Amino acid sequence: TGMTVFSIRLWPRWPRFTDERLAAGASRAIGGRMIVTRFAPAPTGRLHVGNIRTALHNWMLARKAGGRFLLRIDDTDAERSREEYVTAIREDLAWLGLAPDGEERQSQRLGLYAAAFERLKQAGRVYPAYESAQELDLKRKIQLGRGLPPIYDRAALEMSDTERAAKEAEGTAPHWRFRLDHDEHIAWVDGVRGPQKFDPAQLSDPVIRRADGSWLYMLPSAVDDIAMGITDVLRGEDHVSNTAVQVQMFTALDASPPRFAHEALLVGNEGKLSKRLGALGCDAFRERDIEPQALVALLARLGTSQPVEPIAERATLVAGFDLSTFGRAPARFDDSELERINTAIVHQLDYAGVAHRLPQGMGEEGWEAIRPNLEKVSEAGEWWCLVTGPISPPQFDAETQAFLRQAAKMLEWGDDPWSELTSVLKQATGRKGKALFLPLRQSLTGMDHGPSMAELLPLIGEDEARARLARAAS
Ligand code: GLU
Repeated sequence: TGMTVFSIRLWPRWPRFTDERLAAGASRAIGGRMIVTRFAPAPTGRLHVGNIRTALHNWMLARKAGGRFLLRIDDTDAERSREEYVTAIREDLAWLGLAPDGEERQSQRLGLYAAAFERLKQAGRVYPAYESAQELDLKRKIQLGRGLPPIYDRAALEMSDTERAAKEAEGTAPHWRFRLDHDEHIAWVDGVRGPQKFDPAQLSDPVIRRADGSWLYMLPSAVDDIAMGITDVLRGEDHVSNTAVQVQMFTALDASPPRFAHEALLVGNEGKLSKRLGALGCDAFRERDIEPQALVALLARLGTSQPVEPIAERATLVAGFDLSTFGRAPARFDDSELERINTAIVHQLDYAGVAHRLPQGMGEEGWEAIRPNLEKVSEAGEWWCLVTGPISPPQFDAETQAFLRQAAKMLEWGDDPWSELTSVLKQATGRKGKALFLPLRQSLTGMDHGPSMAELLPLIGEDEARARLARAAS
């Protein structure tokens, strides 16, 4: 079929299955299916480093296996979701080179969730609850005060029909909880964290639907993972306990859970989850003229045992992608490391890829002459002014002026005017080193340092070069 079939080699260092049932479940999920991953942001803000990293790793996982990478817009929260963010997410992914192979929006799939909800309700896996937020808060405080974990006490599950009818008669609409099966012990082999086990009795039955009928994250995500044929869920470790719940949801909906992998979170320089890190939106990187390749190169390997290197080729990064190299410790995102990688990436960029961002008239030779001096592509314009002028050289002393006059006279326009000029001048004047080169550079560019003169001089051109030398000499 031309489809790449998943092979177990993708998970070479997975721990051995410790539990027969789990092994059976996992191999059912593998079942020779094409790898399908998804990135599922809520459109409540711009993408930030944390979710760029999640998107990237899901993209890499799919690409490496020849599978599909899908975008799922988690917009069930109508109040906080904004259309402008949906657009921004698509644009940011395109800018990063992580365009998805398909897209779904949760707001257009509400019927699916309602159907799954009915099924679960028929099966007795969903129950109405009537506590107010304040009541629940009070229960939690009491439990915590007694040194108990704040697990929902299932009071609503114990209610009689009469008690429920009384609540309804009072005008209290219920919210809905998923009933965890306390007899079914929860386990999976996590692609990053290894074997995971949860006792469902230690978890609260999650609220899945609000009293107004709107959906919380938990059920729609599991329903979509089934409906979209997701084989691998790769996300941050803040979702580990959601996974425990969702594993039971998959089973309750007669589906095999996908493989799960939870990566350690990113932290800022300060060493803890910082507000600033969350504020580092994709738009901010774009405004700072950070190259998408730099973000990708850094985030591809940050927190793994592989060295972070300024690798511009996606294929190289994809080929090396391996969840077994991911560490369990939080990964530190360092902005100065991003800047360093960005500079190294800029030095690799081809003219064709950046031409549209360069000043008018700056051709390939110009780009190649100036590129080694850049930290950001946007700095090309400043350096290009050295070629187009006007420039402002310093005031030289009389002796240097005489030297520059001589230079203007001796300038010849061969294949390599700079080495020809400097060698004849050296011979004629006995100057060498800085005394020879600096006044020439200053009079030709107005600067003490900058791109290679051998490359710049041909771009300045013969007449202009002679005129600049003559002007500096007077
Ligand atoms: N919208 C959820 C989030 O951004 C998706 C989590 C998931 O990957 O299932 O946290």
